[in-house]
Amino acid sequence: MIFAGDLWQLPPVRATAIFSNPCVQGYSLEVQRIFKMFWQEGEDAIQRTFQLTQSMRTGDPWLIAVLDADRNGEESWEMYCFTHGLPTRNCGSWMPQSEGPSCGQAKCAKLAEEIWPAMQKRSWRLRQSEECEDCKQERRRRHCIVVSDETRHREVVAPVADIAAMPPPDPKQKAGSSVSDEVGGVSRTPEAESSSLREQSVSEGAQRKVASGPIKRRRSTIPQGARVSDGHEVDISDISSINRHKKPPFVDAPFVHPFRHPSYHAQQLRAITFAQARQQRLLWITAHDVPMTKDPKRTSEQAESRKERWLEFHDRFTSGIPGLFPLVLDLPVRFTDATRNAVAKTQGVFKNARGWLRGWDLAEEEQQRLADMQEPEIVMKKRPRCLYIELEAPTKELPLTNGKAIFRLAVQAHVWSLDPAGKVKILRYGFNIVPDFGGTAHAYCGSTLEACIGDLLPWHQKPRREDALKAYIIKSRVRQTDRLLLAQPDSPHLFRQGVHPGLHLLLKVLMKDITWEEVRSAPSPRAKFTPTSC
Ligand SMILES: [Zn+2]
Repeated sequence: MIFAGDLWQLPPVRATAIFSNPCVQGYSLEVQRIFKMFWQEGEDAIQRTFQLTQSMRTGDPWLIAVLDADRNGEESWEMYCFTHGLPTRNCGSWMPQSEGPSCGQAKCAKLAEEIWPAMQKRSWRLRQSEECEDCKQERRRRHCIVVSDETRHREVVAPVADIAAMPPPDPKQKAGSSVSDEVGGVSRTPEAESSSLREQSVSEGAQRKVASGPIKRRRSTIPQGARVSDGHEVDISDISSINRHKKPPFVDAPFVHPFRHPSYHAQQLRAITFAQARQQRLLWITAHDVPMTKDPKRTSEQAESRKERWLEFHDRFTSGIPGLFPLVLDLPVRFTDATRNAVAKTQGVFKNARGWLRGWDLAEEEQQRLADMQEPEIVMKKRPRCLYIELEAPTKELPLTNGKAIFRLAVQAHVWSLDPAGKVKILRYGFNIVPDFGGTAHAYCGSTLEACIGDLLPWHQKPRREDALKAYIIKSRVRQTDRLLLAQPDSPHLFRQGVHPGLHLLLKVLMKDITWEEVRSAPSPRAKFTPTSC
């Protein structure tokens, strides 16, 4: 029997990961059996392990180098600076393996050691102008943080150029070690302080938090002439780097985040941007709610205004049917619930099944009304009779229409409750799909995305090991580094927490570098594992 799998995965929800601490008591018999198979030696255990080392998703050398470092919790400060658009010690095409530029230019090879140190007092913009066009282009490609219009116009008063002159952080220093000091609830490490210089212009909230801390002291010690904003300008000197999240391929890229962050509202806003980018008209479908028990105390106007409020509820509370749905051709969509149709399930329509909206069937009267209107957004009076959705992963049971796996979704009627006790029941008519513009890292495990907008949590939040694992999943969904955008700067400590202990130990056992007895007889086997896996 052959087992094939990827250890760098998120722990299963409400279940036990094989890289959990096997020395802990209390596991079920089934889990103990699996542990025995993976951690111990014997007839029924894994006999031999082959480790696959070639990345099949990406051939981008820079992305491979960054992901390798991130997986092992040893991302260098230089990599962090490239990703965040900060000044770096090396030229734009520097590769960590060769410790030199890949552009092949003799001048670029001398920048880090000779030319830039001699220009130490010059601004970063001037220093960077010395690198070749290939290096400049590669530097822009590696910069993954969203630069918006608002970011562009904010002032950066701190000398970002000084960052390049700062000593690199001590790799042995762990997150949350004694070097950190708490200022207004914000963990301030040397790395965090320098990254905050950039963060200052990105997050107003963070700016308020750090305003009374070391940044304030830093401001007072900077001579006026040294105040530069070039660290910022470096990233946005190329107009194409501004508002990349509003342009292809990020217009319809999912927003992948560690938690269930994106709200209903955010999904709708992105649907509007999607329609604008494709120069298409947006038709809003509203759900229709019918209370199953009548309230005699309310007038019909009161009842109608109440129903309007219900349209704003998240689809998680309304049995999977959203109050408002944006009808745009080719919109990526996700089923919130399986349809109540047994045939649909056999055709591949499940909860979280993905697809694209390829068309709809409108009543003639509505077609006539729309033909006479020119507005870019219109609220429909009548719901379409059905929607045509091309499924991403259909089964063979779904017949093809013009060569495409099109599923015909009719109007659904689901019951939802207004109160937690389920006493006030409402019958909602609508469609059980939402725009698929985002989801959790869990939801995108194993997926390859054409483009991805990620969120690795704010830079000032003290990262945990499980945050690093989720962040790694998010960063590794794309094939090219320029297909990844990060919504905000992340903590410099996020990928500097060392290897994931459970994963690392299990791999060593499987590769027979250490034995089960050595794991079990360690003075504190529990300490070898992450707190969450114990
Ligand atoms: Zn170069």
